[in-house]
Amino acid sequence: MKIELLTYGVLSGYSLDPIEKKPLYHFFPGHNILSAGSYGCNMRCDFCQNYNISQKIPESLIPETTPEKIVKAALSAERNIGIAFTYNEPVIWFEFMRDAATVAKNEGLFTVMVSNGYVNRDPLNEIIQFIDAFNIDLKAFNNNFYRKLTGADIEPVRNGLKQIAKSGKHLEITTLIIPGRNDNEREMALQSEWIAGELGKDVPLHLSRYFPMFRRNDPATSQETLNRLFKIASGKLDNVYMGNTISESGQNTHCPKCGTTVTTRSGYKTLLLNLDREGKCTGCGTLVYKHFTFSSSVKS
Ligand SMILES: [Zn+2]
Repeated sequence: MKIELLTYGVLSGYSLDPIEKKPLYHFFPGHNILSAGSYGCNMRCDFCQNYNISQKIPESLIPETTPEKIVKAALSAERNIGIAFTYNEPVIWFEFMRDAATVAKNEGLFTVMVSNGYVNRDPLNEIIQFIDAFNIDLKAFNNNFYRKLTGADIEPVRNGLKQIAKSGKHLEITTLIIPGRNDNEREMALQSEWIAGELGKDVPLHLSRYFPMFRRNDPATSQETLNRLFKIASGKLDNVYMGNTISESGQNTHCPKCGTTVTTRSGYKTLLLNLDREGKCTGCGTLVYKHFTFSSSVKS
């Protein structure tokens, strides 16, 4: 049997985005990343927030780009650090992602994958060779949720997260909070403990607000629910954020040691402050950002 990638070079979305939009808050904060995605997914989440491109495939698939073209565009884009594979599930775009990322790395660009993390050990090992930073969904912390709402299993996702953390590549996690489905306090406590114990206390966790979409019409997540879970997760992890919300709380980064505010975020406006050239807190010298480029926007 031969498997052929029908979406090689086929784009569903293509845009220069703030890196914060991926979301990645600890990977070259304040910079942009050229983002590209195609069609299709290996999950069937009935709450998919991107179902127009993940669960619907156009009848005619026309390649619009090549690895060389996309890298050329990335090199000339403003304040751009590299290329992000995102929007739909990049794991099923493997051959294009690999080829584009390889050319990008040769040109000194950074590469990002935003994924559901549902991938076998061997292909993930290969992906880790050419991707620098990951944002992986951990959609809930129980397998019933995965089975019923995504058509997948949690175990490969948990194993993938461990594999990435062990590799030393940059990792952030997103959990979309859906009322009545995964907003249980005990489950959030278990999830945060697991992240701290298995992946690292410093791995950022983004709690994202759900909106009714695709086959699910539960009401949008309330700010109150997000605040509640944010508080629980923040008790176990250094960097917890709230996303997809109009509230400005839960967006800023504080030094994990002395609490100095080192970044404020409002919409996609990112302000870096109290940081030295290496991404260290000027209050106490603790390294806050391992991946950091000093820019004139830093205020001390
Ligand atoms: Zn500090």
